[in-house]
Amino acid sequence: MSDARVLANHAGGSWSEPKATETLEDRDPASGDLLALIPLSGPAEVDAAVEGSRRAQREWRAVSPIDRARALLRFRELLIAHRDELAELVSRDMGKTLADAAGEVGRGIESVEAAAASPHLLKGENLEGVAEGIDVELVRQPIGVVAAITPFNFPAMIPLWFLPFALAAGNGFVLKPSERDPLPPELLLEILSEIDEIPAGLVSLVHGGREAVDAILDHPGIGAVSFVGQASTAVHIATRGAASGKRVQALGGAKNSIVVMPDADPELLARGVTGSAFGAAGQRCLAGSVGVLVGTESEQDAHRDAIVEAARGLRVGPGLDPETDVGPVIAPEVRELLASEIEQAAGRGAELALDGRRDPGPGGCFLGPTVIDGLPADDRVLNEELFGPLLGITRAPDLDAAIKFVNSSRYGNSALIFTRSGAAARAFRYGVEAGMVGVNVGIAAPVAWFPFSGWKASMIGDLHANGRDAFEFYTRKKVVTSRWE
Ligand code: NAD
Repeated sequence: MSDARVLANHAGGSWSEPKATETLEDRDPASGDLLALIPLSGPAEVDAAVEGSRRAQREWRAVSPIDRARALLRFRELLIAHRDELAELVSRDMGKTLADAAGEVGRGIESVEAAAASPHLLKGENLEGVAEGIDVELVRQPIGVVAAITPFNFPAMIPLWFLPFALAAGNGFVLKPSERDPLPPELLLEILSEIDEIPAGLVSLVHGGREAVDAILDHPGIGAVSFVGQASTAVHIATRGAASGKRVQALGGAKNSIVVMPDADPELLARGVTGSAFGAAGQRCLAGSVGVLVGTESEQDAHRDAIVEAARGLRVGPGLDPETDVGPVIAPEVRELLASEIEQAAGRGAELALDGRRDPGPGGCFLGPTVIDGLPADDRVLNEELFGPLLGITRAPDLDAAIKFVNSSRYGNSALIFTRSGAAARAFRYGVEAGMVGVNVGIAAPVAWFPFSGWKASMIGDLHANGRDAFEFYTRKKVVTSRWE
């Protein structure tokens, strides 16, 4: 018997233990400690959440856009006040280092700041005199109740990619966070409930897995769904959501290449590549997990050696230890799969330039940085999203060949280049099929005033998270044609 608490859902402005009897365990991946039990909610819990958010949304919609933005600024202040607590919870529940977790929380706060520009971005359009005495006006109205289904790798930031924009536009909001690390989202809800200006019940939280997600997708009271997660789940969300008439934005997986030109600055490169490939134990959708080395064999080898050396120096350990560079992966079974990928790659003749397999620790989740070289371009290590601290290396004779390799991916989240040549950077930017391009940076995460703009299998839908797109996504346009003579 465990005395871990069963998490409560939040609906209609209060916390209530779901009726669901089945639970999942939420464990600290570094220590293996049981943190909480997650109830597997179903349609009844989703229904209560939607009903609570719907009631509060009627009141919220009538609040002026300016006062809604002010409430978000209050949310920002409270998030800043709770920043350390939130970061520690992210680190404990998800495993990433404290510094990384603090960065995540900072990025989440940035989305709230961007959403608070809403009075400008919710403005409509008009055209006077389209015919005699006739004017046309476009207004943006909230959708009603919208939902977000979020992944494990950014348990605080990704809910904040959606929640503030949805609220700014006048919507009610239902969050179904990842069942792997649900504690930071719970704290977000607690923080929100400190804000008197936001009606109780406007934001609901439903814990669970597949059944809760499908209940959200099928619910007629939800008008739009935002999703972030694996590409295969994104397809399910987009098809089932669309089948019930919802607007959907579904951000999927990724396999991001880092093109290394012969003239790359070695120091910038080593820092950028190790941060990109191994930061957050490689569990970022913007992680560069393929190094494409360009140039002669000796130039390629020199860059490879520099990357391996820098990776070898990274310290693996619990995210809460300030000395740690690479924390655990999310779950023991994920660690096992990754270790087996390494074994199989070696079996296919790859060279393990750095083998991160080590004692998995008490939680069974530690895996060190691993660099796998000598792979053919169609090898799964270079093409499948493995989502761990694994960097595959491939080689290209010139930039054109490198761009061709990058574009052969079914994903198109991000593509990076390290070079001192403006011409090479420009050709890369022009030619790569990816929505977020980085030049001499390891993580090309756009600030929240721009859209998070994956392409191809990394994004299903037209409107991205954050930026102006968020306001487009969370509003419906109404066009009024009037005759006043
Ligand atoms: P996941 O797809 O396993 O889970 C995401 C959410 O979907 C969770 O809330 C989960 O409960 C739900 N879910 C999972 N399987 C489901 C199913 N079969 N039916 C219904 N619901 C289901 O993703 P994850 O492992 O938590 O997150 C990591 C993935 O997210 C990686 O692929 C990563 O690249 C991706 N990601 C993408 C972006 C982006 O911007 N494109 C950002 C962050 C993460």
